[in-house]
Amino acid sequence: MQTSQSARLFEKAKNYFPGGVNSPVRAFRSVGGNPLFIERGKGSHIWDADGNEYIDYCCSWGPLILGHANDEVLNAVENTMRNGTSFGAPTRLENELAELILTFNSFIKKIRFVSSGTEAVMSAIRLARGYTGRTKILKFEGCYHGHVDSLLVKAGSGLVTFGNTSSAGVPESFVNETITVPLNNKEAVLQAFERFKDEIACVIIEPIPANNGLLLQGKAFLSFLREVCTQHQSLLIFDEVISGFRVSFCGAAGLYSIQPDICTYGKIIGGGFPVGAYGASQEIMSCVSPEGNVYQAGTLSGNPVAMTAGIAQLTQCLQPHFYRELEEKTQYLVNGIMSVNSFPLFKLFTLGSIFWIAFTDKKNITNADDIDANSMQYFKTLYQTLLKKGIYLGPSGYEVGFISSAHTYDDLDKTILAFKEALKMLLIE
Ligand SMILES: *Cc1c(COP(=O)(O)O)cnc(C)c1O
Repeated sequence: MQTSQSARLFEKAKNYFPGGVNSPVRAFRSVGGNPLFIERGKGSHIWDADGNEYIDYCCSWGPLILGHANDEVLNAVENTMRNGTSFGAPTRLENELAELILTFNSFIKKIRFVSSGTEAVMSAIRLARGYTGRTKILKFEGCYHGHVDSLLVKAGSGLVTFGNTSSAGVPESFVNETITVPLNNKEAVLQAFERFKDEIACVIIEPIPANNGLLLQGKAFLSFLREVCTQHQSLLIFDEVISGFRVSFCGAAGLYSIQPDICTYGKIIGGGFPVGAYGASQEIMSCVSPEGNVYQAGTLSGNPVAMTAGIAQLTQCLQPHFYRELEEKTQYLVNGIMSVNSFPLFKLFTLGSIFWIAFTDKKNITNADDIDANSMQYFKTLYQTLLKKGIYLGPSGYEVGFISSAHTYDDLDKTILAFKEALKMLLIE
């Protein structure tokens, strides 16, 4: 496989950007080699700068649930753009996207559009603090919520901890407002509330944790969080930036029928453009400026081009059987790969159209501690072999894969065959 053009572009990029990239995981550091520079995409396929073709399971890390360059999205965006790309004044397109979401998602009654998942989470935390008048937040080890200062915190030693920053530049005083507990551990949550009962503004969780492996939580644990939050008048935030519009139109809240107090969205909501959002009840959202005193604003918020892409994408997600068909494809892929697997530790965990490759002898992985860092060596080898066979995954063993509606059964059959051979080679190495 020829990749000299990508290599050349990466050398250049290193002069311009830290590590040659504008977001760290793109740099391929955990799988080795140079990142591929992507030239174009159509449907489930992408082509790199050297003309190599891949079946893409990264899908821009989740947003592209219809695949690349979806015709309806492109046509709509083109029409909108001709009328101008930004006004900094309201447009009818914001109403249309909001109406589409609020009509079919009964878990939120009002919404505010922002420009990224990080921004949505940052605003939701501020809103929870403003609404409750409390300062502390409780998060789970193994959940990612974007690069929000107070959430770049990893657990210390012990069940309930004020963690350590997972990034330089985050003040200790911020970290002291963030309590960190393990996933799927009721005892830890109870202990945290016992110690800090009237101080906890919110509990934030990815209801389907999918940024550090796929750490599936039982419905019982999520219901338990709902009860504990209600009991202590803390807000429950579901960070649905990945799971929103992915596992169902109403995300994990809909899948599990659990009512969070605030939901955050991103990724799919923007149809491949930078959009995030947070939503809640009328009462909670009335705290947001200009109605209330929780300040939050954005020059490009509700951008008409991005709104248009979101409308075009979400309209297609609402077609009958859309999510069932995605799930059927994912099951077909997962069962197909498992049926040809020859490598003992290889496992696939899946929910809806999300899947995660793990190397483990455990039956379930529900907690960040259950992931063996050494197993990432296997992923690295598997990754490079699959890449040469035309299968593109997110370049890290901690990342999940996504199926889009553009993936065909022919794509899936080719992928199963590639896995069969790659897993066989893993056995030899
Ligand atoms: C991707 C993601 C974010 C951050 O979104 P960005 O658009 O990258 O800022 C936050 N929370 C979750 C659960 C995510 O998956």
